[in-house]
Amino acid sequence: MADGTFGLSSAVANETAPVWAKVKDFVTPMEWPAQATLISEINALKRERDAVILAHNYMTPEIFHGVGDYVGDSLGLAKEAARSDARVIVQAGVHFMAETSKILSPDKMVLIPDLRAGCSLAASITGADVRLIKQRHPGLPVVTYVNTTADVKAETDICCTSANAVQVVEWAAREWGVDRVILIPDEFLARNVAAQTTVGIIAWKGRCEVHERFTADDIAEMRAAYPGAEILAHPECPEDVLAASDFAGSTAAMTDYVMARKPRQVVLITECSMASNIKGDVPDVNFIGPCNMCPHMKRITLENIRDCLLKLQFEVTVPEDMIEKGRLAVQRMIDLPPPAIPARYDLFKARHHVAVELI
Ligand code: SF4
Repeated sequence: MADGTFGLSSAVANETAPVWAKVKDFVTPMEWPAQATLISEINALKRERDAVILAHNYMTPEIFHGVGDYVGDSLGLAKEAARSDARVIVQAGVHFMAETSKILSPDKMVLIPDLRAGCSLAASITGADVRLIKQRHPGLPVVTYVNTTADVKAETDICCTSANAVQVVEWAAREWGVDRVILIPDEFLARNVAAQTTVGIIAWKGRCEVHERFTADDIAEMRAAYPGAEILAHPECPEDVLAASDFAGSTAAMTDYVMARKPRQVVLITECSMASNIKGDVPDVNFIGPCNMCPHMKRITLENIRDCLLKLQFEVTVPEDMIEKGRLAVQRMIDLPPPAIPARYDLFKARHHVAVELI
């Protein structure tokens, strides 16, 4: 079974051998024949349906390496959705990501393999909430994390991701000629961004249920147990977690860090599949826990991706007026030049300069 051929036709074994090489540390030999068969079926259906699969960094390794045509963070996937010529987009991610793809590609059919794949952050706020916030803070630009529903994006001036949030906040303050901006809905992202800029931040109490659970004590325990291990944290974590880490950045920035530096031991303070997916490309790096699982991301499986392509289900639609308004906010973000500063969070400043007004 070491070569991944057990029980498979030679055609499927050959097609999926490069995938097996990347996932064999995470998929058991018992599981692989069924997964390899599904990967082969999905690849055939993609050709038949003129479809591409956008796979987020938090997908399981067999999806990420096996069927993802484009893989990456929210920003990268949003850009690919806009660029792709395919007729059908399958979002291997959560519902707000599929809506973002639809906003950027309204003429394409956008499918999500499980309509229940939600997000605690996206669920924390509605378009009506944003209208109330705007009434309370007239004249301030609204910067919204991409992890929001289409009705929230429709009330937004410009979107951001954790990779470009500081740059977007500073751009919005300059364009509007103000010294404060509304940055919603993730409270911790807002606090961590506030630590990087002199622009004042008005935030909302949304939380990512995966990242909010990490604590500075977790970091201290990891340091004691694994001296020398490098600790990388996502900016949706609390500020004291970032301050205790060696590096903080988006999933794309974490990937770049590991690829470039190849640390002997590394801890990724984020969703569990991140480490498994990077490991396929840097086998000599030893990834150590802890990690937290996103139950919403884990609703997406090879089986429901296959079914969604086979039956062309479940289509994600967005009302036309929301598409128009939401596209302006997302496109503004995409049109900004690449960040002048690296997409990493300055940990030293994070300990010293934070000013956030919570709504
Ligand atoms: S990891 Fe957090 S932000 Fe991402 S989908 Fe899951 S709950 Fe939402």
